[in-house]
Amino acid sequence: MTATIVVNSVEAMRREVAGWRSQGFKVGLVPTMGALHPGHISLVEEARKYAQRVIVTIFVNPAQFGPSEDFGKYPRTLEADVEKLSEVSADLCFAPTVEEIYPKGFSTRVEMDGPARAELEDSFRPTHFSGVATIVAKLLNQAQADVAVFGEKDYQQLLVIKRLARDLDMTTKICGAPTLRETDGLAMSSRNVYLSAEERRIAPRLHAGLEETARRIKAGEALSPALESGRAALSEAGFAIDYFEVRHADTLARVKSAQDGPLRLLVAAKLGATRLIDNLAV
Ligand code: AMP
Repeated sequence: MTATIVVNSVEAMRREVAGWRSQGFKVGLVPTMGALHPGHISLVEEARKYAQRVIVTIFVNPAQFGPSEDFGKYPRTLEADVEKLSEVSADLCFAPTVEEIYPKGFSTRVEMDGPARAELEDSFRPTHFSGVATIVAKLLNQAQADVAVFGEKDYQQLLVIKRLARDLDMTTKICGAPTLRETDGLAMSSRNVYLSAEERRIAPRLHAGLEETARRIKAGEALSPALESGRAALSEAGFAIDYFEVRHADTLARVKSAQDGPLRLLVAAKLGATRLIDNLAV
């Protein structure tokens, strides 16, 4: 265990990175919004496979929250987060203020097409991916890491970021990492703390619905009825579904049959006031 260094300025982060580079170390970047759980920690471990030094960024990015979303109440647990990072010997935690990231006069926003307009998350959170693309472009430029790791948990986001890095000729390699789940299948998420005890009991049905739908498709059932059964099961369990869809895994393009694959199931649904997302390879 090595204590994680915490810095708040881009300049201090760049100084550390320059020091590592001069020693020949490769650098990995793991962007997060904090309230760290084992899913985030698995990304640190993934980054370690490519890099001898790992930076975890913790920034609750106001630009990716809609006006009626949970920016104000999003959990902020920096002290506990740094402790968790020290336990896995993450080298640096970059925890900037909003002013450090968006100083007075800041005037740029990255707008994307393609996977950012797939009519999935973007239909329900219209400004979300431009907020994500803007902060990720900034973090990639600030850190100049060799590799950056993002979770498949946010599958559309992962494809958006891969597209962003390609389109803007960024040199950082973008890697995806599998979703870490609780033993009952619920995808780990900083937002799971919002769930009441009763909602927490129901929440694993989301993953179960994906599993059952994937099983039906693999068994040869046509996509539409398989999706309809999945939607019905979730509604029955008490979810208010935003979307439950199957798409091409690489492009998020709509598909007509399993032959159009590889396929990915993607879901977003509300349980009470909490919005959960998940996805699964078919
Ligand atoms: P967040 O702090 O929620 O913005 O997430 C930061 C990063 O952690 C993103 O790349 C997420 O996709 C990833 N992530 C979130 N939850 C999980 C999980 N359960 N397993 C793996 N990665 C995750």
